[in-house]
Amino acid sequence: MIEKRDFYIDGKWVAPQDGREYQVINPSTEEPCTVISLGGQADVDAAVAAAKAALPGWIATPPEERIALMEKLVEIYKNRAEEMAQAISTEMGAPIDLARSAQWGAGYSHMKNFIKAAKDFKFIKPLGDHAPNDRIIYEAVGVVAMITPWNWPMNQVTLKVGAAVAAGCTMILKPSEESPLSAVLFAEMMDEAGFPAGVFNLVNGDGQGVGTALTGHEDVDMVSFTGSTRAGIAISKNAADTLKKVHLELGGKGANLVFADADDKAVKRGVQHMMNNSGQSCNAPSRMIVEASAYDQAVETAAEVAGKIAVGPANEEGNHIGPVVNESQWGKIQDLIQKGIDEGARLVAGGTGRPEHLNRGFYVKPTVFADVTPDMTIAREEIFGPVLSIMKFESEEQAVEMANDTVYGLTNYVQSQDGARRNRLAKQLRSGMVEMNGESRGAGAPFGGMKRSGNGREGGVWGIEDFCEVKAVSGWSND
Ligand code: NAD
Repeated sequence: MIEKRDFYIDGKWVAPQDGREYQVINPSTEEPCTVISLGGQADVDAAVAAAKAALPGWIATPPEERIALMEKLVEIYKNRAEEMAQAISTEMGAPIDLARSAQWGAGYSHMKNFIKAAKDFKFIKPLGDHAPNDRIIYEAVGVVAMITPWNWPMNQVTLKVGAAVAAGCTMILKPSEESPLSAVLFAEMMDEAGFPAGVFNLVNGDGQGVGTALTGHEDVDMVSFTGSTRAGIAISKNAADTLKKVHLELGGKGANLVFADADDKAVKRGVQHMMNNSGQSCNAPSRMIVEASAYDQAVETAAEVAGKIAVGPANEEGNHIGPVVNESQWGKIQDLIQKGIDEGARLVAGGTGRPEHLNRGFYVKPTVFADVTPDMTIAREEIFGPVLSIMKFESEEQAVEMANDTVYGLTNYVQSQDGARRNRLAKQLRSGMVEMNGESRGAGAPFGGMKRSGNGREGGVWGIEDFCEVKAVSGWSND
């Protein structure tokens, strides 16, 4: 069993003041794999005090020096890639090949993109020719509490830490209690890179304890949160008394609009994307909405593709999917699959229970429902497991209406060979991102949602801006 009980505060590993023991369960085996401490108010107070004390010096550090530290961090992250992949795979169940590639790689590319964006970022800009003595200064928001989920742990940690380093914010990270190992390793890397004491602090804990203490703290200037919409609402309310900035990246229920003129890989691609990371992605294309004339073929293809997806332990190499993160998620997914059956959707692949060859571990069968209607629970709720709902549309107008008929608005997808239609739909879909024909968004593109998917933008220039205050100055000397 790995023991990681200490917190990283003010440049040192320290024993918790308020700690309770917590065992992290390996979802592939259901056995405990790591012991951490869940901190309390005194630990949060110490970490916030360290971040506050470090702030003036860090804000005054020239951006080039902050970027140089991030470059060092990236080198260390690269050198310790295998350790990171193993940590992610053990704690949250991503198969090791996925952990080595996309899970580790997301962190790597975000940091590289931030370095590039920060090098070009103008922290002081002129307002315009009409006001030669005005300047707009982008200034670090201050002390940022970062609360992250377990599903893409390094993706989310680096999107926040990278932005904070570039902007000049100091920070306290509270990773998910389900994925603390990767975060502790990341804190070791921050230490090795030589960030000044207090700039980065890590306190492990749960939402009720450390999460609440951070989001209500007097000396925290901003909360950057990624996780469920439920927690995003609770955090916003708790943060309201101190009117801190609240930056939210929340859940999703992405529509994937498949038109009859879509390329012949579109359905397969949509199913595989849905099942990737065992369906535990906020931007998963969980509603495949197919044009009537292509519907029957799409259902057949989707069932066939899902039926071929292997499920197995995270430590085995290969392109199978792993378990879902924990028992409560497993139970919630089972209930939703049962609800799909009870409410009359047609099950064409998977179903309830573990795959036959696995009798331990939180494994879910890759599941596909056809004939899903917009009122069904599986069309409305974020399932966060390998479960796809297929629906039918008759016209482009109806397709847009169905796609937008959700409280979420993170990523929508369009599959069509008709360029004019794609451009039209990109404007009509109410989501922070629209990805079309399987083309991923380019490096440095902003990630974030509309509606109850949140209000933040992460990554690249937009990610840095979200960690800055905008200050308007007149009477600037041009001498
Ligand atoms: P979660 O909301 O349960 O937990 C996320 C984090 O918030 C954890 O660190 C948890 O300890 C903490 N937390 C929980 N309640 C809190 C509270 N009241 N106050 C402060 N902190 C609290 O979510 P999860 O189960 O870890 O992650 C899955 C969810 O995250 C899904 O809904 C998914 O869509 C969403 N997500 C969104 C994005 C995005 O960028 N939009 C990315 C990944 C995941």
